[in-house]
Amino acid sequence: MRRRPVGPACPGPGTPRLPSKVIVMPNLETIERRVVACRRCPELRAYCAEIGRVKKRAFLSHDYWARPVPGWGDPRAGLVLVGLAPGAHGSNRTGRVFTGDGSGEWLFRALHRAGFASQPNASHRDDGLTLHDAFITAAVRCAPPANKPTPEQKARCFPYLREEFAALVNARVVVTLGKIADDTVHALIKETGTYRTPRAPFAHLAETIVDLPGRPGVTLLASYHPSRQNTNTGVLTEPMLDAVFSRARDLLLARTESNVN
Ligand code: SF4
Repeated sequence: MRRRPVGPACPGPGTPRLPSKVIVMPNLETIERRVVACRRCPELRAYCAEIGRVKKRAFLSHDYWARPVPGWGDPRAGLVLVGLAPGAHGSNRTGRVFTGDGSGEWLFRALHRAGFASQPNASHRDDGLTLHDAFITAAVRCAPPANKPTPEQKARCFPYLREEFAALVNARVVVTLGKIADDTVHALIKETGTYRTPRAPFAHLAETIVDLPGRPGVTLLASYHPSRQNTNTGVLTEPMLDAVFSRARDLLLARTESNVN
């Protein structure tokens, strides 16, 4: 007896079609809830909680956040900033990224001068600060000892950055604050994007142009991190930081004009 060949079934005219697998990417609110509840790094959760219990002398009366710190800002942002990780007594205390420490003082002053922030100061979560066309996140969302996350901790936190980038559909300029943030964003590009120009070695104002899904021609713009170590030593000055956001603004404006014309 001749056997019928075995192959992919071809549905007949009356056969109902099965829905193809649909991958639903979470929105920013969902990502935020999952980040705050995340326990993938028990050692970091314990470290952050202990920092919040012991506190710093200047903040003894404060209730520390002492949990993972989610990304924050304008969900329709054209500009995305990626930092390293929460400061132990900065955003690990306040619960909002870059808020409450020296790095944030520098960053928000510069963002305000460039028109991306509503005010130059960021002291706590309810201080009235809003971001316009900008979203800030980090490579790692729990404060690590000595600001040095391990490779395993960076790898565990990486999926949140991937999800945020997928959700930030208007992102056209990505500012990486420091080498670790820069390496993390390039790891993401290697995984989900393509390079239009070769990766620029990390340097202040170095630019690389990449394509992300649905977003061709995204510029990665590197900056030195506004840490006290860099700002106190003159490695990063206010004019240098202003130059980053001036360039980001120009790139966003050029993109808007090319869409209009
Ligand atoms: S560092 Fe990231 S992955 Fe690890 S516990 Fe915090 S939020 Fe979760």
